[in-house]
Amino acid sequence: MATTKIEFAHETLNPLVGCSRVSPGCDNCYAVRMAHRFGNNPTVPQYKGLATMTPNGPAWTGEVRYVSGVLEKAQARLLKARSPRRIFMVSMGDLFHPRVMSLDQGGVFVFMRDLPRHHFIIITKRPATMAEFCRAYWPKPLHNVMLMATCEDQQRADERVPHLLKLAAQGWHTGVIVEPMLGPVNLKTIVVDAAEGEQSDWIDALRGIRGTGDVVHSDAGRLSWVVCGHEQGPGKREVPIQYPGSLASQCARVGVPFFFKKDSAGEFPEGMPRQFPAWMEA
Ligand code: SF4
Repeated sequence: MATTKIEFAHETLNPLVGCSRVSPGCDNCYAVRMAHRFGNNPTVPQYKGLATMTPNGPAWTGEVRYVSGVLEKAQARLLKARSPRRIFMVSMGDLFHPRVMSLDQGGVFVFMRDLPRHHFIIITKRPATMAEFCRAYWPKPLHNVMLMATCEDQQRADERVPHLLKLAAQGWHTGVIVEPMLGPVNLKTIVVDAAEGEQSDWIDALRGIRGTGDVVHSDAGRLSWVVCGHEQGPGKREVPIQYPGSLASQCARVGVPFFFKKDSAGEFPEGMPRQFPAWMEA
């Protein structure tokens, strides 16, 4: 466990570490920089060899590692915790990286299931794999878990949101994280469901449609959280504050909680919302 400066979580937990680049949002990956820095630190041997220095800065070697004992120790501590914790799982990698075995993914889901008082956030850039994992191995939604996909620009939103909506239709809490924001993102894009002949928009898509499982929460069928933040750190790519402003307005119009992290200057501008879905605040 590590306490974190990440604004929407109390702590991070890393039973798996290591990753590889997926898309432009990875170009200044914070996790690879940290993994490289930790690489020669004997107190955190799990990071040794995960990252290497290149002319363009630290890069993943492609190795992904399961770290024994992390979940067991965390479970013992969290069972005794007085108040619910909001935990960002696998912040130093991607649970749905192709080298992560479904057995290890399942171990993380068992861990989250067995701690129903606590709230867990999973973020991936590989939501197709996440949707396939849930379909094949975990069809019953966990109501203390938020499944999220990073959509750093419109192209990535176009590619990734449809996978989230499949999960939402099954009753999972799903959200989008637009960080690092690299361009405007419109979640109000009209999409046509060819099978149903219906028009909808992503942020409000499938509202009211119930999955086939025992869906019990009111977010069933739609995106239920949007997080956004500008890129930070060396080489940051700046975008106008109007871009997250537009996303905040889209969310406000349909009542989806919006959480803004930081602007390009590393500040939290007055007037931007920092909202959570109600169940995550409990
Ligand atoms: S998916 Fe996440 S952890 Fe993996 S390289 Fe991209 S930004 Fe880094």
